[in-house]
Amino acid sequence: MKARSSSERGGKAAVRLEGVTKEYQTGSRSVRVVDEVSLDIMDGEFIVILGPSGSGKTTLLNLISALTRPTSGRIWIGGHDVTALSDADSTRFRAEHIGLVFQFFNLFPALTALENVEIGVALTLKDPAEVEKRSLRYLEMVGLGEMADKFPSQLSGGEQQRVAVARALAMEPSILLADEPTGNLDSETGETMWTLLKDLNRKTGTTVIAVTHWDEASAIADRTIRIRSGRIESVKGDGKAAAAREKGTTTA
Ligand code: ADP
Ligand code: MG
Repeated sequence: MKARSSSERGGKAAVRLEGVTKEYQTGSRSVRVVDEVSLDIMDGEFIVILGPSGSGKTTLLNLISALTRPTSGRIWIGGHDVTALSDADSTRFRAEHIGLVFQFFNLFPALTALENVEIGVALTLKDPAEVEKRSLRYLEMVGLGEMADKFPSQLSGGEQQRVAVARALAMEPSILLADEPTGNLDSETGETMWTLLKDLNRKTGTTVIAVTHWDEASAIADRTIRIRSGRIESVKGDGKAAAAREKGTTTA
C-alpha cells in the first residue's frame, strides 16, 4: 500500500493541529505564545475557544488561517498542509477556504451593507447579477435583507457585525474564524449574535471556530477549548453533535 504523503495526513478533520508552537523573539528573549497545541476539529463543528487576555487565542486563529507561520508543528486545513504554502499561495488559500470575523467589524464606511458583502463575493463570481443575488441571500440569512442599502453608520453595532458575518459566509468558506465577535457588543446583542452564529453553522454546515472571553458561549458549542499560556488546559464536549450532523442524523 502506498504511504500517504504528509500533505494528505490531515485526513477527514476540517482542521488538524499537530504539535503547533509559535515563539516570538523580543530582544534576546524568545517567548512561547502557542505551546505544542495538538487538536482535530471535525467538519461542521462549532468550537468555542476560551482563555484570558494574552493566552494566545488570536495567535492560534492566525496560525489556522495561515496568516502566521508556526515555529514548529504542522497545520492541515481540509487535508491541505497550510504550513507548507508560500505567502502567495496562503493568501489564495485564505480567500478560498477561510471566512474571518473580527471584534471591530471592519466594514468599509463608504459602501452600503450590500456592497460590503459584494466586494468579497466579486472575487470568486464574475457576473454582477450573480454577485448581487448571492450577497442579498446572505444578508437575508443574517436578517438584514431590508437593510441592504444602508451604510454602516446607519446600522447598530449588532447589525454591522451581522453584515460582517454575511460578508464572510457569502464567500462560502469551509471554516469561519471569529475573533471576539461579540467583544464590541452589549451583552444582549452579543447573545443574539452567538445564537445567529450557531444557527448559521447548522444551516450552512460551515465549521466555526470562535474565540471569546464570554464563558456562556460554551453552552452552544460542540466543544469548548480552554487555553492558558498558549496551552490547551481543558476540552469540554465530545463533538458528537457535529459527527451526527456529518452523517446526516440529527441529535437536536
Ligand atoms: P489573546 O488573543 O489570547 O489575547 P494573543 O494571541 O494576541 O493573545 O497574544 C498572546 C501573547 O503573544 C501576548 O503576550 C502578546 O503580547 C504576544 N504576541 C502576540 N503577537 C506578537 C508579536 N507579533 N510579537 C511579539 N509578541 C506577540
Ligand atoms: Mg486576541
